[in-house]
Amino acid sequence: MSKFSIIPGKLLEDFLALVRIDSPSRNERGVADWLIKELTDAGCEVEEDDAGGATGGNAGNLFVRFAGNRPDAKTLMFSSHMDTVIPADGVEPIVEDGIVRSKGETILGADDKAGLAVILHLVRMAEAQPEIPRPDLEISLHVCEEIGLLGAKHVDISKFRAVAGFILDDHEPKEVTIGSPSAVRVDYKIIGRAVHAGIEPEKGISALEIASKAISNMNLGRIDAETTANIGVVKGGGATNIVMEEIEMKAEARSHSIDRLEEQVKHMQDCFEAACEERRKEGEDVPRFVQERKDDYKAVRFNEDDFPVRLVKAAGAKLGWTIKTKIGGGGTDGSIITHKGIPSIVVGVGMQDVHSTKEWIRISDLENAARIVGSIVVTHASENV
Ligand SMILES: [Zn+2]
Repeated sequence: MSKFSIIPGKLLEDFLALVRIDSPSRNERGVADWLIKELTDAGCEVEEDDAGGATGGNAGNLFVRFAGNRPDAKTLMFSSHMDTVIPADGVEPIVEDGIVRSKGETILGADDKAGLAVILHLVRMAEAQPEIPRPDLEISLHVCEEIGLLGAKHVDISKFRAVAGFILDDHEPKEVTIGSPSAVRVDYKIIGRAVHAGIEPEKGISALEIASKAISNMNLGRIDAETTANIGVVKGGGATNIVMEEIEMKAEARSHSIDRLEEQVKHMQDCFEAACEERRKEGEDVPRFVQERKDDYKAVRFNEDDFPVRLVKAAGAKLGWTIKTKIGGGGTDGSIITHKGIPSIVVGVGMQDVHSTKEWIRISDLENAARIVGSIVVTHASENV
């Protein structure tokens, strides 16, 4: 049975090269240029879109094609993101006892340079072992994932022919995430009436009081097994001697159920509306509230027998692994790409303690991630899963 073999040393070398190029969100240029060169040299066609302009960054998403050798096999897509969180200033990787970590003052950036290195390795393995069956591959490398999945939202899906996608952006290489929630963000502003707090407070309307009333009637935190809500930012007031005229709040709600999410958002709106109404006198226009809603991402839920899940399980079985499925608590580029039309699940690449200066990765996990993507490709090209 044919399968790809890892190219010793090369995967780690690529990973270390990538983490040494700082790429906080909106500043992915260096990583994009490095990838354009390596992927082109390895036989890919690479296009960059205009997401840089749209996100205020210095690089766009990369759309990469790598031709297969089985014209009858349908195209597969692999994806990861080029940006990292901060602190990412001068990342210096330390390799010790089979583990890579940062020196301690910065993140490592395995999230998601592990994904990038694994995808590049897939191309390198295919180039070095051209007799192994593989479909046409499309690779979508995104900017600004960490600041709201902005790159993925900008992707022009009409360029793609892939029938399934694999987003390499999670912890365990033997696990895949097949469900994620919907999330919305809502900004609220309550407008009251400012007066001198010492001279004529009775003529004022405190926006803070209205907000407090509304929030004391509001269900927040864990709403049910599938749903959460939070007000995370509050801003208001200018001086102790002025009755607070305006208060602004930033909130979010998430749910694995689109209906429950809508109910929660409506509930929060109703609480603010009721608190304003209770205090508003006939003929007056304050207090009132305004809200601005932004849909972040929509829920995704695959079944165990959906094609990408079946394929990754079959690919795992070929390696003697049992692939576990799980449901995630956050949005991913997979949610965005799935709703654009390519069903995409999230595959682990070994990153641990991400978004912290303690971030680390096992080299053996990085290699296992390369094995599973290699196996996905071969299984798809040679079997009818
Ligand atoms: Zn990530």
